Amino acid sequence: MTKQRELILNILKQSDRHLTADEIFFLAKLKMPSIAMATIYNNLNAMNEAGMINRLHIDGVADCFDKITAPHDHLLCDRCGKITDIRLPALADELERELGTEIEDYELTVHYICPECRRAPKRRQQEQ
Ligand SMILES: [Zn+2]
Ligand SMILES: [Zn+2]
Repeated sequence: MTKQRELILNILKQSDRHLTADEIFFLAKLKMPSIAMATIYNNLNAMNEAGMINRLHIDGVADCFDKITAPHDHLLCDRCGKITDIRLPALADELERELGTEIEDYELTVHYICPECRRAPKRRQQEQ
């Protein structure tokens, strides 16, 4: 593994959330000032294809990268844009039962207002 790839992987592993390529670039530059954006993209694409990380695409939100590659779904806060993991292991069974056939895959994004935003309803919208 190249030093660059190791750095990118560590950044994702150390983060407790999903990171966009821009965020990874910013964090990588702190450790390796010479690293180029193209290097970030190339490594993210290669690691995604190798199944080491998972690219997450949600309409209206920048693609982000997920260190968790096991199947899981996502909650998106419509107020602050935060993405949170959710596991719904019974859902695939439910879908298959309803359809009467096996499913290959599904993508689910649940839109909601996260607990932090709900606690502070009057606060101005956070900058993105
Ligand atoms: Zn929120
Ligand atoms: Zn996730």
